[in-house]
Amino acid sequence: MVSRVIPVDPFDLVIFGGTGDLARRKILPALFRRYLSGQIPQDARIVGVARGDLGRGGFQGMVREAVCDFGQGAADKAALEAFLNAVHYVQIDATGLRGWSDLAEILQGDRVHAFYFSVAPSLFGPLAERIHTHGLAGPNVRIVVEKPFGHDLASARALNATLAEHFDESQIYRIDHYLGKETVQNLMAVRFGNMLFEPLWNSQYVDHIQITVAETVGVGGRGSYYERAGAMRDMMQNHLMQLLCLIAMEPPAKFDPDAVRDEKLKVIRALDPVKPHHIVRGQYEAVTGQESEFPGYREAVGNPRSSTESYVALKAHISNWRWAGTPFYLRTGKRLVARSSVINVMFKETPHSIFGEEAGRHTNVLSIRLQPNEGITLHVTIKEPGPGGMRLLDVPLDMSFAEALGPDGRHPADAYERLIMDVIRGNQTLFMRGDEVEAAWGWTDPVIAGWKARGEVPKPYASGSTGPGDADQLMRRDGRGWRGINP
Ligand code: NAP
Repeated sequence: MVSRVIPVDPFDLVIFGGTGDLARRKILPALFRRYLSGQIPQDARIVGVARGDLGRGGFQGMVREAVCDFGQGAADKAALEAFLNAVHYVQIDATGLRGWSDLAEILQGDRVHAFYFSVAPSLFGPLAERIHTHGLAGPNVRIVVEKPFGHDLASARALNATLAEHFDESQIYRIDHYLGKETVQNLMAVRFGNMLFEPLWNSQYVDHIQITVAETVGVGGRGSYYERAGAMRDMMQNHLMQLLCLIAMEPPAKFDPDAVRDEKLKVIRALDPVKPHHIVRGQYEAVTGQESEFPGYREAVGNPRSSTESYVALKAHISNWRWAGTPFYLRTGKRLVARSSVINVMFKETPHSIFGEEAGRHTNVLSIRLQPNEGITLHVTIKEPGPGGMRLLDVPLDMSFAEALGPDGRHPADAYERLIMDVIRGNQTLFMRGDEVEAAWGWTDPVIAGWKARGEVPKPYASGSTGPGDADQLMRRDGRGWRGINP
């Protein structure tokens, strides 16, 4: 099955921070892939902006390199050269006043202008203000804001207020790239497009839900940012919270941006405060014998007394009719055994086993894998084949996209491809609304404040493990266990 590509209208996309890591690794390769697919019209314009004195040719060279290194540029040289014709560069310091008239000259007045803020959050305000004062903030303008969106509730509120001075909420696209993943949208299709699951999607039938976002990488070069953030701010407040919302939300009346986001917001507002003994924080240690290649967290950030967590696991409760009594266990961490993002919906056991105790107890699990190998698997119980009596066996019913959808399933569009095209089309469904972000911080802030007040230090865990043992305890105390972290 080949997905239909519907070209978008001609647009101008300005990438502030066009020479940065995110632009080179994600944004530019994503644009080129959409260009290859025929979705981006020939006369669209992509304008890189940064302080460096690159000139148009210099920036085109950088784009060529980025698209070859991180995209499909090397595979289609002719298409790459055609794509580069659409690429421009303007030298602007976001905190200065020069260069804006050069940018205005490139932009075509009659089309969508998307301004992608791929720069440090401290520059979001100055950029919004300057776009406005230089007469570039018309009704056809959309701004795209990268994470982190604030550091806590107060800073997120301040940022929302600054952006709101210059742009309407309908023009602001706050990116959480997890929401752009094929499986995340499929989760909504599975839940709300089938009669099969929704009647079971509540505390009567679901024992608990596990959400795991595991990384194998350490903090790398992001140490100074990460020291101020930690896993709670960097991952839990945004990515895991968004996944929790999509899993737990009520069916929206229609699949439209505000209807979906209203339902997500209700989930966050129904979350109970997390109890201190329902959270485990961890910090990874060096790999023994390979300390220089794989240093521990504290060495990596150069702070031997750091109390920032690189891992967090917690038990959350949603106080509403659907979910009262069904815990949600969430965990995320760096330097874990495998890179894996998965949601496991763990159904309850049957009320009574007609096959007797020797057949064992079995539960259905719906696994929604976000990465790698996006797909959905339903684990069902069947009879073990053969004449050896009635023994039961759990088998996966694989709804993997590679099987069902052919090439498009094997290589689902990258999240950035989908999200950037949604910006151009003006569809905000997969972007966080300001009140959602604030509500998420409102839930996260007291947890972080509690750690600080109690002077808590994260538990060390071995690199390449599944995290601190206390996280297993968190489950075991409830008579449950985490599912494995598998690549
Ligand atoms: P980066 O590699 O440090 O790049 C920053 C970019 O901003 C460069 O192009 C830089 O070019 C430009 N810049 C810096 N100061 C500027 C100024 N005063 N005026 C105009 N341009 C300026 O950062 P990044 O990793 O790409 O991250 C960009 C944003 O995305 C950050 O908010 C980050 O938190 C977020 N983010 C990044 C990732 C990722 O994977 N990298 C993932 C999620 C979110 P010049 O120095 O030449 O001006």
